[in-house]
Amino acid sequence: MHELAITKELIKSVLQFAEEARAQKVVAVHLSIGETYGVVEDLLTKAFHHFSRDTICADARLDILFKPICVKCTGCDSVYYLKTSALSDMTCPQCGCHNSQILSGDEFCIDNLEIV
Ligand SMILES: [Zn+2]
Repeated sequence: MHELAITKELIKSVLQFAEEARAQKVVAVHLSIGETYGVVEDLLTKAFHHFSRDTICADARLDILFKPICVKCTGCDSVYYLKTSALSDMTCPQCGCHNSQILSGDEFCIDNLEIV
């Protein structure tokens, strides 16, 4: 259940942003989450609403954009996409080497907050 830990961090960040912006209420939270996190949208949403009950983001809508995992091979420079389940084995489909770097898909960021 790593959604719980992620959600607590998320709410902390959202509340901090909202406070700095002197918001009275958070209406929506727009997120980008890389697929390396393996986050289940439904669980994250449920956990968010559970832990934010007594805060100004209690009724906020979560709008999550999942970013695919994009990898670049350091051997032959080819760029390819990976499924979350294939992360433990990043073998380049072109040259077969194992020295691949994650270009994107490991981000977790709050893109935008809708506040009033
Ligand atoms: Zn390669």
